[in-house]
Amino acid sequence: MNAEIIAVGSELLTPDRVDTNSLFLTEELNKLGVEVTTKYVVGDDRERLAYTVRTAAERSDFTIVSGGLGPTEDDVTREAVAMAIDRRMTLNQGILDGIEQRFRTMGWKMPEINRRQALIIDGAEVLPNDRGTAPGQWIDVRHCSVLLLPGPPHELKSMFVKQCLPRVERRVPKMAIETLILRVAGMSESDLDQTISPVYKQYSNPVTTVLAHAGDIQVHLRARCATTAEAMTLLAEVGGKIDALLGDRIYSRNGDPLEVVVGQLLKKPHATLVVAESITGGMLAERITTVPGCSEYFLGGFITYSRKLKNTLLGVPLELIEQHGAVSRETAEAMAIGARNRSGATHALAITGNAGPTTDGDTAPVGMVYVSLADLKGVITVHRQFSSDRERIRQFSSQMALDLLRKRLIAV
Ligand code: AMP
Ligand code: MG
Repeated sequence: MNAEIIAVGSELLTPDRVDTNSLFLTEELNKLGVEVTTKYVVGDDRERLAYTVRTAAERSDFTIVSGGLGPTEDDVTREAVAMAIDRRMTLNQGILDGIEQRFRTMGWKMPEINRRQALIIDGAEVLPNDRGTAPGQWIDVRHCSVLLLPGPPHELKSMFVKQCLPRVERRVPKMAIETLILRVAGMSESDLDQTISPVYKQYSNPVTTVLAHAGDIQVHLRARCATTAEAMTLLAEVGGKIDALLGDRIYSRNGDPLEVVVGQLLKKPHATLVVAESITGGMLAERITTVPGCSEYFLGGFITYSRKLKNTLLGVPLELIEQHGAVSRETAEAMAIGARNRSGATHALAITGNAGPTTDGDTAPVGMVYVSLADLKGVITVHRQFSSDRERIRQFSSQMALDLLRKRLIAV
């Protein structure tokens, strides 16, 4: 079975607000085996919303509308849905009494505009709202159930879990949806797709999606089966084939980000880490410290953006920087060695690069990044030439550094 979700509210069409209700609804529906096929965000506009509801209700098993049930003029969901499915609305006295009572207990008189929250579409089941004034509504229209839910996330969640889930469950044949997330570093999206698409294209179930973000690629496999066990078996089969093709380029098989994986690898041998950052200006340390418990292995970092601080804080000779450039293998290595020596950490990561947009007098081109790792065995350096904007080059750099450390730690 499938669902379409319509988020209503003009504020959701501004740069300031996003629709999060649909994420929650999708997660809950997926657990029951209901697939979300389409989502819409519609402003507070009765005609546009009515058109959208009509479209969604014609082709889905569930059409879920969130928001626009408030008392003000811009809350048009009730009217728009009534218009879309060609039904009238009736004032429900019991609900009106309940809303009045709610205001009275707060010591207020109900404003007249709240009356419209008691308007119920003919044939609708009322869904009580234990967190606010606007009740929800459930209307069966031919093959489709249309649900009207309040916009405030805590109201919607409570109402959906208590009132809607049991009703949805009764209508849905038992289906399980399971997801496998593989995360990959050190590959481009097209490289990865070329490698694994011959496998995943053979299967319509599980559905495979590739999501790329600055050096971090996620492969999502979603299996829909009659039972959880069948879905897991299918994921193991297809996931196993993809796993074999990608090998240790996969850094996580449970959705964990790279900083979490690296943290776990450092903990095992009781290793410690220090960072020396130029181009990333603290981004690497920021990522590492998002992980709870990182104090067990992370000592701290040096943000050495200028030549002067590379020299005074890390002991990189100024002549070395003059000779090879701040963005060079030699400087990266000297930064890593200096950070390791001065902190006493077992492992030191250093990043230097040129994030652009101009070269600032350095000889290295924009997008050139060197990462060095110093440990007990010596120092290794990798470099990459990225072509991207400043922010993404910096994100790529931090990913590249963490992945270098990960590879070193799993090679032990
Ligand atoms: P409404 O029910 O349209 O009056 O919405 C009330 C409030 O709920 C809005 O101001 C938003 O803060 C929030 N809201 C509405 N729709 C959503 C949504 N789809 N996702 C997250 N928050 C929402
Ligand atoms: Mg609204």
